[in-house]
Amino acid sequence: MTQRRSRILVVDDDPSVARVLTRVAQRLGFEATAVIEPGQVVARVERLQPEMILLDLSMPGLDGVEILRALALGRSRAQICLISGADRDVIDAARDLGHELGLQMAEPLHKPLGREQIERTLRAIEPAGTHRGTGSPEPSVADLDEALRAGNIVPHYQPKLDLASGRMTGVEVLARWNSAKLGVVSPGRFIPLAESSGAINRLTDAIARRSFEELAGLGESSNKLGIAVNLSPRLLHDLVYPDHLLTLALERGIDPDRVTLEITESEAMRNPTRYLDILVRFRLKGFHLSVDDFGTGFSSLVHLYKLPFEEIKIDRTFVADLRESQEARVIVKAMIALGRGLGLSVVAEGIEDGETAETLVRFGCDAGQGYHFGAPHGIEELRGGRVPA
Ligand code: C2E
Ligand code: CA
Ligand code: CA
Repeated sequence: MTQRRSRILVVDDDPSVARVLTRVAQRLGFEATAVIEPGQVVARVERLQPEMILLDLSMPGLDGVEILRALALGRSRAQICLISGADRDVIDAARDLGHELGLQMAEPLHKPLGREQIERTLRAIEPAGTHRGTGSPEPSVADLDEALRAGNIVPHYQPKLDLASGRMTGVEVLARWNSAKLGVVSPGRFIPLAESSGAINRLTDAIARRSFEELAGLGESSNKLGIAVNLSPRLLHDLVYPDHLLTLALERGIDPDRVTLEITESEAMRNPTRYLDILVRFRLKGFHLSVDDFGTGFSSLVHLYKLPFEEIKIDRTFVADLRESQEARVIVKAMIALGRGLGLSVVAEGIEDGETAETLVRFGCDAGQGYHFGAPHGIEELRGGRVPA
């Protein structure tokens, strides 16, 4: 089956910029069109249903922010990449606004635009057929239910490395849904559905069970490999969950000491005392705890200090900006110092190049993950010799 090409809509009132962007996108194999008249954007988006919109933030008549509001009203599922010559904090604030409005915001492009920067952004777009902007139907609760029953929600594994030595020390388990009807569905589309429909317990069980089995099956050479499992904050209400997870692990020969539970910052920190009992229980059973997406949830330092977490995972949005933003460098450096000062292990996620990895080592970051070291893959890749002896 041939896959149709992903569509990109370029919105820039400067025809020469629009032309350059369109050309670069076409050369990369995208179906790209430009619109230089801001007033036509919304109608074009509706007709074209692009996977990505490259949107100039400052245009006469209708500015990028108004377009964002209109796209949100039209419930656009396209990834939106802002382009602007304005100050970084203005662009970042606009991107945050887009997030707030429920839009899919990609990393912004800063003018003057370099070809490498443009290509990197475009390459990050999911191919047509796997992205929600393609007009493919949104998965329903019934679809998800069926997928869980059929065992079509499976774990993929991304290597986690000790940054100083480059040694692989563990893997993060990331859920993937292989759907005959919808293609490969990414977790962003089904985790929220699982959470709101109450299927998250079953989903987490399915992922934990299968990943424990597959990793135990790798044999002795990898029985020290750490296993990071994402835990929905919804499961933190269930007082017997720690026992349940312990049984799942032990029945498959997995020592809980190998397992780190990653819990996103926003939820875990909002009401720390409410979660304290269950977090303590996980620790008592021998599991480790990590604050995921650190830096996005405005957690109070007091909470971080009081809760039984042992690791912080710096959110990939900060890591992605390290090379180009002095502000990001200041923030990441401070996060690493804070984490280490509190005796926590510090992990950076979303490392996409060697320069970023080197900067993180210089800042004293312990561990890292990202496409630079390896994307998430099925168990065969781990079996294929990537496991440290
Ligand atoms: P997360 O826990 O922050 O996971 C890291 C995400 O970053 C993964 O996206 C991974 O594929 C992606 N990633 C890895 N390296 C890079 C990189 O170098 N650059 C960039 N830009 N991205 C990178 P994925 O697999 O789409 O997962 C999205 C989110 O879904 C996860 O974010 C996690 O919060 C959630 N999730 C995934 N699996 C599960 C699960 O089994 N249970 C629960 N509750 N949530 C899950
Ligand atoms: Ca995670
Ligand atoms: Ca994360």
